[in-house]
Amino acid sequence: MGKIIEPLRGVHDVLPAQAAAWQHMERITREVFAGYGYEEFRVPIIEQTQLFKRSIGDFTDIVEKEMFSFVDQGEDAITLRPEATAGIVRAVISNGLLREGRLRVWCMGPMFRRERPQAGRFRQFHQIDAEAFGFEGPDIDAEIILLSARLLRRFGLTRIKLLVNSLGTPAARAVYRDRLTAYFSAHQAALDEDSRRRLLGNPLRILDSKNPDMQRIIAGAPLLLETLDAESKAHFETLCAQLCSAGIEYHVEPRLVRGLDYYTRTVFEWTTDALGSQGAVCAGGRYDGLVGQLGGAATPGIGWAMGQERIVMLLEKQGLGALRERPQVYLVLVGERALLEGFKLAEQLRDAWPDLKLQVNLGGGSFKTQFKRADKSGAQFALVLGDDELARGVVALKALRQDLAQEECPVTQISERLGSLLGLNRA
Ligand code: ATP
Ligand code: MG
Repeated sequence: MGKIIEPLRGVHDVLPAQAAAWQHMERITREVFAGYGYEEFRVPIIEQTQLFKRSIGDFTDIVEKEMFSFVDQGEDAITLRPEATAGIVRAVISNGLLREGRLRVWCMGPMFRRERPQAGRFRQFHQIDAEAFGFEGPDIDAEIILLSARLLRRFGLTRIKLLVNSLGTPAARAVYRDRLTAYFSAHQAALDEDSRRRLLGNPLRILDSKNPDMQRIIAGAPLLLETLDAESKAHFETLCAQLCSAGIEYHVEPRLVRGLDYYTRTVFEWTTDALGSQGAVCAGGRYDGLVGQLGGAATPGIGWAMGQERIVMLLEKQGLGALRERPQVYLVLVGERALLEGFKLAEQLRDAWPDLKLQVNLGGGSFKTQFKRADKSGAQFALVLGDDELARGVVALKALRQDLAQEECPVTQISERLGSLLGLNRA
């Protein structure tokens, strides 16, 4: 016997029984984006490694240790995308989509990060992603946050909280960076190894540390909001006022910095206390310098990404994960002739009713065996075609979940009968 091949560490299968929850999430996502005039954008899963190095930044968890990178036979340095923004920005530039100045797009798909697997943290995971280009004012910040709020609400999630902060302009950040460097240098002995490394490369990232031992020192660090430049301050205040007037509750979190280098001004995060330590469900911010940094004409941008596995985990906790798709009708076929005629009938029914969910019994079997399968399939009705029914030009119809008398229906009328019983829509 061949040896069983195990899946890679940190990857997961979406089982058929879980597919309905994923489809439910994807359907709502499409509806909500359409409702705000955002168009879908599908970009590659592989990109040149330098794209992520240049955009995400060298002193980030992703670039330091999480990227799946390899050299292919043609000797290109390739990376499996760890996030969607960089690829979308690359695609927006290389397809000349910014000539008209403005763009609002979304995408959904797998991302790859080589991190330590835990509940809610995978090496291949999925994100829903929103991006907007060419809008300078805080109105887009408000819109894109409102969009994320509506999406989470439509998913039925309740125990969630919105954190917002402003990182200011790059110039304001440079001043703040010096203040932080001075502060943390004075506490160098108490810093963990990661933070000491970040102190040299990017001291802001120390604020993002998840090490509990670091929290006391972080709590004493100077705040960027205190020294924010006037324009960023006005931008942030307008955003807060817009969120308020739209009825979205938020919390200003002055130590929220986000793990990627490209953010400017607004950053935000949705968290939940229902998922233990992996509480971030959605995060994003403004990245006004990124398009220019990647070779495009200077264009402001803003976006967010939402972790789909964490959304599904929350849906499952609320019992919404059990929306399994079941056939409506199971076709029982007994006898050689019935098998031939049955396939024809099934195709005719599917022609007439595109939304009919019909499963045909395959591989024969007695009436008893086939009825057992029909029951297990979860179907509401069994449709029965045997030699006896064929000879009389009828089909038998048996309700499997309701107490109804079995009926016989002429083959010529069964399509209409099913259509009205199940409330189906015509082709
Ligand atoms: P964390 O602090 O949890 O590592 P992050 O800052 O690295 O998160 P982002 O890059 O902002 O995460 O990604 C946006 C969202 O994608 C996160 O809020 C989370 O819901 C989800 N996500 C990120 N990494 C993973 C992962 N390895 N497995 C599952 N979901 C993830
Ligand atoms: Mg991370």
